[in-house]
Amino acid sequence: PTDLNELANEYLRLSYHGLLAKDKNFNVHLVTQFDPTISTVTLVAQDVGRVFLNLFNNAFYAVQERQRTAPVGYQPTLTVSTRQLGEVVEIRVSDNGTGIPESIQRKVFQPFFTTKPTGQGTGLGLSLSYDIITKGHGGEFTLETTTSEGTTFLIRLPTSQKSI
Ligand code: ADP
Ligand code: MG
Repeated sequence: PTDLNELANEYLRLSYHGLLAKDKNFNVHLVTQFDPTISTVTLVAQDVGRVFLNLFNNAFYAVQERQRTAPVGYQPTLTVSTRQLGEVVEIRVSDNGTGIPESIQRKVFQPFFTTKPTGQGTGLGLSLSYDIITKGHGGEFTLETTTSEGTTFLIRLPTSQKSI
């Protein structure tokens, strides 16, 4: 049984430190909206942690990319929120980065699909994350919204696990 607020926060720090190790002056606003009343979820913490790491790393990359061409005053921001909805805990990971163009939205979950330069992406993050959440934990993993203003991924995990 795991507190998803704690798990998300732990991996947010890890990802953020990875970002600063590469670009120590990068200024990103981290926002957490953790509902303190969510139920614990029985899960494999290393696996779901890996999902968080993939999502946060993708989000940081997207805001870095957008900053290269964004107008003055652009504030890169990553928001992580949790909430309880009946028997499900929802976790949203939102960024105000580049967004995902319509033409590739169907492809981003495919293994090895990447738009990153060689060496910077394997294209495995989202496909692996999808499998961990759906097959591994009986949950749902979706691209909730994406526009030129940013992207939100949604994870839904049942609080009573039947098969992990
Ligand atoms: P990788 O990060 O190695 O490219 P992923 O499976 O994690 O592989 O992501 C696949 C592709 O989906 C990325 O190359 C990128 O084009 C797109 N993508 C994923 N997350 C985001 C995001 N938050 N904002 C914009 N594009 C994204
Ligand atoms: Mg990735």
